[in-house]
Amino acid sequence: MVPVQLNESANAALDREKTSAADSAVLHRHLDASFLSLAKGEGSYLVLEDGRKIFDGSGGAAVGCIGWGNQRVAEAVTRQILDVPYCPTIFYTTKAQEDLCRTLVETSNGHMARAYIVNSGSEAMEAAVKLARQYYLELDPPQPQRAQFISRKQSYHGITLGALAIGGHAARRAKFEPMLMKNVTQVSPCFEYRGKTPGESDEAYVERLTKELDDEFQRVGPDTVCAFVAEPVVGAALGCVPAVPGYFKAVRAVCENYGALLILDEVMCGMGRTGTLHAWEQEGVAPDIQTIGKGLGGGYQSIAGVLAGHRVVDTLAKGSSVFVHGHTYQGHPAGCAAALEVQKIIQEEGLLNNVQELAPILSNGLVEAVGGHPNVGNIRGRGFFWGIEFVADKETATPFPPEDHVAMDICEFALTKDYGVGVYPGGGSVDGIRGDHIIISPPYNVSRDDIQRPMAVGLSGGRAAADEEA
Ligand code: PLP
Repeated sequence: MVPVQLNESANAALDREKTSAADSAVLHRHLDASFLSLAKGEGSYLVLEDGRKIFDGSGGAAVGCIGWGNQRVAEAVTRQILDVPYCPTIFYTTKAQEDLCRTLVETSNGHMARAYIVNSGSEAMEAAVKLARQYYLELDPPQPQRAQFISRKQSYHGITLGALAIGGHAARRAKFEPMLMKNVTQVSPCFEYRGKTPGESDEAYVERLTKELDDEFQRVGPDTVCAFVAEPVVGAALGCVPAVPGYFKAVRAVCENYGALLILDEVMCGMGRTGTLHAWEQEGVAPDIQTIGKGLGGGYQSIAGVLAGHRVVDTLAKGSSVFVHGHTYQGHPAGCAAALEVQKIIQEEGLLNNVQELAPILSNGLVEAVGGHPNVGNIRGRGFFWGIEFVADKETATPFPPEDHVAMDICEFALTKDYGVGVYPGGGSVDGIRGDHIIISPPYNVSRDDIQRPMAVGLSGGRAAADEEA
């Protein structure tokens, strides 16, 4: 059974508007695919070269958070580039970098001591794991035997070799498996829809997962583990899956018990996406090291970061005082200026209040619009970070075959001329743990009217309520 009635004529129209990658000089991810050509961003909308408007219901992969075409950010970046376009961080710093890092430390409720600015989430993860290792080398007395990491199955922490090795994303790892570091093992994710047994309470589920983690520490040798790595709300890998209450407190306790660090990857779910600046604030735990990314610069520049807690920073300060890591473009002034302005806008315009206020409209609306569809297995998320998982059979939660590319089809369907809504695909049940999903993650300043647009698509074909002139 197909999950949606694809609107053939609209899809054909969409194809005509696409630019083929076959003749392109770009090494696109799909060499034979075709792409829509973006001309402009305006608030919550993207404008194509042919003038067609698309409601940006996901901000790319939950990157956009203040919408597009923001004058303040553009001016801040322009000013920065004219003043100091590049900063060799071995000798120099910039006001933009200092102000951004101070803001990040000051908004961490006292948990974080320093921030480290890089250019992508993968770079942030690479830095985070090296920082964890270096922490143990500089402890007094040092613990050089700690070089092991425990993460979770079907997790995604980045695409570079180190970050890929930390993650448990089977499909993205497969071709590179022989090249990945071997000192990483994985336990089950906290995934209520697919992981909890019928009738199992939250407490019992947490206890079971905690035991699995504890057993893994014991199996690999508890004094060899640097850190447990997890995403507070799993983004791209599973489709906006929050943990059940108490899970993060319980895994934190296991880490404490074995003297290991907790690294939380908030590249996707952080910087306000779930309604609080950090997703961990809703879990009642704080990490020792945290990665941030997408919402930090809201897509205006390529920027990500690592936040290091006091324990880590104090240890390095008392030790070598040198973090043995660095990139030519770390702390890039334009990135820092953009992120600083984006974060100011979020604060000054009270955008997290908007997320909290409108989140129920989004979540309830999605449930009402498509929750009853026979191929919608589960709708979950937090704040402005919602995932819909599609299944071939609702009763058994059986995923569609990955080669059917159901999530991709649904995204194309939502993009068609009639609807013009951008949502983000994920999935392919490569290991049976998950189905196809789409992510809906609008900008924090979306209007009350526009937030209805993803719901207007529905899943039954036909024309959406959304008019084209939005
Ligand atoms: N960590 C998480 C949780 C992510 O979702 C991603 C990207 O999707 C990354 C790390 C890697 O970030 P980037 O693609 O910027 O390298």
